[in-house]
This record gives sequence, structure tokens and C-alpha cells, in this order.
Amino acid sequence: MRKVDTLLVGGAVVTMNAKWDIFDPGAVAIDGSDIVAVGPVARVRQIVKAENEIDCSGQIIIPGLVNAHTHAAMTLLRGLVDDLRLDVWLLGYMMPVEREFVGPDFCDVGTRLACAEMLLSGVTTFNDMYYFEEEVARATADVGMRAVLGQTILKFPAPDAESYDHGLERCRSFIEGWKDHPLITPAVAPHAPYTSTAEILQAATSLALEFDVPLHIHLSETALEVQNAERDFGAPPIEYVYEQGLFNAKVIAAHCVHITRGEIPLLADHGAGVAHNPSSNLKLASGFAPVQQMRAAGVPVGIGTDGPASNNDLDMFEEVRLASFLPKAVTGDPTALPAREAFAMATIEGARALHMDAIIGSLEVGKRADIVVVDQDGVHSTPRFHLSDANIYGHLIYAAKSEDVRHVWVHGRQLVRDRELLTIDLPALRARAIEIAARINAFMTEREGSLLNKTVAIGGFAQQETYEVQVKVQVDDIEMVEARLRAIGLDVVKESVRQQFDTYFLFEGGIEDHYLRYREDNEIVGEDGQMTGLNVVKPTYTLTLIEGLHEREYQDSVILSRSRYTAQATYSLRFYREYFKPRREYEVVKWRHRYRVKFEDTEFAINIDRVTRPQGLGNFVEIKARTWSASDAERKAQLISKLLRKLGLSTRREVRGDYITLVSQPVL
Ligand SMILES: [Zn+2]
Repeated sequence: MRKVDTLLVGGAVVTMNAKWDIFDPGAVAIDGSDIVAVGPVARVRQIVKAENEIDCSGQIIIPGLVNAHTHAAMTLLRGLVDDLRLDVWLLGYMMPVEREFVGPDFCDVGTRLACAEMLLSGVTTFNDMYYFEEEVARATADVGMRAVLGQTILKFPAPDAESYDHGLERCRSFIEGWKDHPLITPAVAPHAPYTSTAEILQAATSLALEFDVPLHIHLSETALEVQNAERDFGAPPIEYVYEQGLFNAKVIAAHCVHITRGEIPLLADHGAGVAHNPSSNLKLASGFAPVQQMRAAGVPVGIGTDGPASNNDLDMFEEVRLASFLPKAVTGDPTALPAREAFAMATIEGARALHMDAIIGSLEVGKRADIVVVDQDGVHSTPRFHLSDANIYGHLIYAAKSEDVRHVWVHGRQLVRDRELLTIDLPALRARAIEIAARINAFMTEREGSLLNKTVAIGGFAQQETYEVQVKVQVDDIEMVEARLRAIGLDVVKESVRQQFDTYFLFEGGIEDHYLRYREDNEIVGEDGQMTGLNVVKPTYTLTLIEGLHEREYQDSVILSRSRYTAQATYSLRFYREYFKPRREYEVVKWRHRYRVKFEDTEFAINIDRVTRPQGLGNFVEIKARTWSASDAERKAQLISKLLRKLGLSTRREVRGDYITLVSQPVL
């Protein structure tokens, strides 16, 4: 008779072993970190004697659940912004806030909060991707949970790395520091193909191979991502990362929602695991992952909650239920993904997806003792039938709630007893979380209240203030002005013809305040000024934050204006629209003949504009020059007046400032 630490006795033992054994009543013996006996009560009692016996009669004993994909510390961003598209949510909100707040303390508190929530919902292992993973690892190990922890690598600055090289270095030292820990499996986590470069993907793969650790990545989450990948890489994401050699590593691919038939064998043939995140995919309207096709091809598919900012909780019971419902609804077939299969995805198959099925995922002798006891005395669990094994899986998937989790062991250590967390001081932890959230709240309130702050927040912009003296005059006979421009012998340094599509975003304060202009500028090849039948040069996109109030006005309505901020617009017009949520929006389309001229040793831009939309707005001549001091502005304003006269332009038909003043209605 072997002496063991703990014996869980009575209750139904759902083993999730290869034979799908259920022992009811059964027993599980724990010694040290391992399971040393599993089976019917009488048989287990014959071989072990326990110091500590726990009566589990009327309860269900299951393997600890595996959360196959999350960003644990994002508990602290839970509910910050909801109901946005993925790119706006991620690039407009999450990443800017993370750059500002995510540090060691944030990761420590956020991870502990996530561990508390996951343990209370029966999760014993989670697969994470975040920043400062050494803090995440310390917190996780301190709590006593098991995790695969992926240190993020990005092509742009991250909260914990100025550049990708730095991120890669950080990842290497994280792996070196934690690779032999019994609870923590360090991993390499290039965030996604669209936030990486080919070089990053290759370097990440080499690092994963060097230490034989998993590689965790988001793949094919949205239709837009696939569309962009085809444009940028000439292949859908999974095919593209395969070409970079990524599947030589032990890959854990999160999402795989928009995956082509041809890509499934790439995952299957290389033993990649997939993390399916039904709540996150539904909430962000990403779509439905082809779970059945992937599983049929032999790809292990686990279930993940994704980060709590896109879910918004870490409740695995809810997640598994959704995972089982979705394929039924999508295929119109209620036999799709039965309860037993869904439960497998949350346990043994999830373990396989994380490349950890040798040690976790089922209740089998020799595996680590990661065990959960689920109550069956709730109203929603009453009554129970025993016609077949299907009854118990049905109970676990369709009726059980995370609140039914009574006890949890990880690595043989009890972390939850009678729904009480044994290694986490929950009131103290909540107080720390609330304190951090208050700071984030204050930051966001300030940011959302200022168009300038909001523009700066999305990054990629270098602040630049530009002062210009300018005048704009409406003209009837534009050919006459062009003829005159040549006749007066101006020194034309450069000229070009372009078609410009301008979209103006107006806000609460109207045009008197700040407003934004998104411009698509198509320069036309050719010097003769002809505007048709010529090739279009690659368009450029800019976003400009303009101050509506004029700084000064000189004679002839020449004004001094200030644009606070102009930058290459790297996101789509749709992105900016959803991110800035303008009160009103206007479009102006025009052909612009731009002359760069020298007049009395001073450079000016003369724009001859034919506005085509809105129709009937007319033709305009604009003269402007950059300036940097009050006296310079004064001098240039005088020169503009002189130039106006030389061109025979009537200043009684001046327009103050931008075209937006002509097309917009006063904002109430
Ligand atoms: Zn994710």
C-alpha cells in the first residue's frame, strides 16, 4: 500500500483519457505534484492510503481546464472600451493605453487578478501573450498556477521594448530565466504577421527552436487581416508565416477564423495547435472559426478566453458552452460538436494545442495533479440522469457554471478550497486594481476630451506646428489667372497637377475649434497641365489637425493660420472615422494646379483649384507661404497683397481659411 498526500474520493471522475473513462463513484490519488492513482473507489483504496481524504460524493472530478489563449494582465483594461472594430480597438485604444500604463506593477496586479478569476472558474493552465512576462511569470508561479507565457515581440515600440531587437533580447533572457521552472513554460510571441516583419518571424522561430519552447501568435483573426496580408505579402497569413518557416517551431496559433482550405493541412502537417476564442470572435465580429474542419484534419483545437478586454471575462465554462453552440448554429446541425468533444477541447485537446498533453489535460497516473472538483448541488444542476456518459458531459457543458467550482489543485497543491482562494489575498488585490484603473480613467478622460491628445495617442506622428500666411480668392475665369501668372514673369520653381480628395471631420466646437482633414492626394504625371489621360502617381494620404481660429489677420484678408499636426495617414479613412467619431463629415474634391514660385526672393505656393465636389462651389486661387516669426509673417502678408494685385485678383471675393468654411453648415 502506497502512502499518498491526498485522496479525492466519491463523485464522478471524468478522466478525459484516451478511452474516455468515467469512474462513478471514483477516486483520484495525489502524491507530491503528480496523480498516482485513478479509478473506481474500491480499486484505488486497495493501492493507496492517504494522509488527507476529501469526500467528493455527489460532485464531479475533472482535469483542470486549459485556457488556450489569453492576455492575462489585460484584466486591468476590462471594459475600458467596447463595441469597436478590432483595428480601432487595438490600435486606437489598447496599444496607446498600454504604452502609457503597462509596466511591471501593472502586469503583476493584472496577472494575479486574472489568476484569481481563472482559478475560480476551474482553469489550472493558461497560455498567455503579453509584455513584462517575467513579472507575469513571477505572479503566476507565486499564485501556483501553470502557464505557457509568451513574451511579445512587435515591429514597433512596445511597453517593454523600444525596438524589435530589444524585444527579442528580452524574450531570450526571459526564456533563459524560466525554462526549467516546473509551472512556467516560457514562449516566444510575435504578436501577429501584421505587427511583425518577415525578419521578426524568422528570428522568433529561431529563438523558439533554439530553446525548444512554443511560439505563440495571432493568425487570421479577421477578414481584413487576410485581405491586407494578400495585398502586403501576396499570401494569406498562415501560408505567409509557413513560408517564413514558422511551423518548424511548436506553434500555438490563436484564432484561425479566416483560414482557407489549403491552409488547414499546413497547420495539421506541422503539428501546430490552435486556440479558438469564441467570445472574442463574436464580440469583435471577427467571424466563426472552422473548428470542425480543423479538428477533422487532425489539428488540436483548444479553447481560449482571449484577453479580458475583448471578452470581457475569463470564464471558461461560458467559453466552452459557446464553443459547443457556435458550430451547431453555423452549420444548422445540432449534432455538431457534442458536449464531450467541447469538453475535450477545454482539457486534453487544449493541452495538446499547447504541446503539453504529456503532462496535463487528463486525469491519468503520471500526469501532474491539476484537478478541479465541481459541485452538483446547485438548482441549475438538479436533477441528474445516468443513462449514459453523455449525461455527465451535457451537465458540464450545458448546465454547470464557474461558480460550481469548489476545489482546485495545480501541481498537487490546493489553490482553491470551498471556493476560497488559498494563495491570493483578494481584497488587497482588488484595491490595487481599482487604484490603477482610477489612473487609467483619468488619463482617458483627458485624452478623449482633447482632439490633439487623441491624435497624438495613436502614434506614428511627430508633432509639428506649421504657421502659414495665406489668402484664398474665388475666381470666375481661371484660365485668365493662369495666363497672367505666366505673363508677369514669376519664377516658377516647380509645378504639378493633382487630384485631391479631402474629408473633413468636424467636432463639437465646429470649425472655430480644431478639426481634422484626411487627404488622399494623387499627383498626376505630366508637366503640361493637362488633367486627363495621364497616369496617376501612387496616392499619398495625410491627416492634418487644423486649428480653426486664425492667429492674425492682415490687410486684404491675408490670414495667419496654424496647423498643429500633419502626418502620413497610415490607417484607413474608416479607421479614423470610427476612432475620432466626428460630429459631422464633409468631402471636398478638387483638381489642383500647384505652382511653387519665387516672388521678390521669397517662395510662395500658388494653388489654382477647380472644385468638382460639392458641385458649383467654383474655382479658387490660393497663395500661401510658410512662416516662423511675426515680422516674417508681416512681410510675407504684404508680398501676398502685392501678388494678388499683379494677378488681377479681387480681394473682395476672399474666403477665410479652408474650404470647409464654404461647405459646412454652422454646427449647433
Ligand atoms: Zn489575443
